[in-house]
Amino acid sequence: MSDLRELYQQVILDHSKKPRNFQKLDGANRTAEGHNPLCGDQITLYVQVEDDVIRRIGFQGSGCAISKASASMMTDSVKGKTTAEAQGLFERFHDLLTGKGGPGDPGDLGKLAVFSGVREFPVRVKCATLAWHTLRAALEGKGEPISTE
Ligand code: ZN
Repeated sequence: MSDLRELYQQVILDHSKKPRNFQKLDGANRTAEGHNPLCGDQITLYVQVEDDVIRRIGFQGSGCAISKASASMMTDSVKGKTTAEAQGLFERFHDLLTGKGGPGDPGDLGKLAVFSGVREFPVRVKCATLAWHTLRAALEGKGEPISTE
């Protein structure tokens, strides 16, 4: 288990240092801002949705390693998915972080399972879910900035 944990930490570190899709997106038709006041994480999400499919996605922002890594992996995971698939992924990801999925049951989350260790640190759950909450706000087209509070 400790080897696995170390691997997970490396993946998170890698994504936080070299976030994927870290760019403003020209042609985005959905955007949303998210804020986690508890930690100071901020994210702006740009999504291009066509025929209910997330064609392109990018983000900008600042925050802790977990929030950045989570945003990086979230954007990687939902690209090419339908909005319904992305919502379903968020629900399973949320269950994983809050322990509802059962211990050690990442389901079909793939590499998103690296965040399973976060559930031991409830304060960090908000860091890890910020990008996902922001995605949901963008897809639902709410113009208001969202906050984890
Ligand atoms: Zn944070």
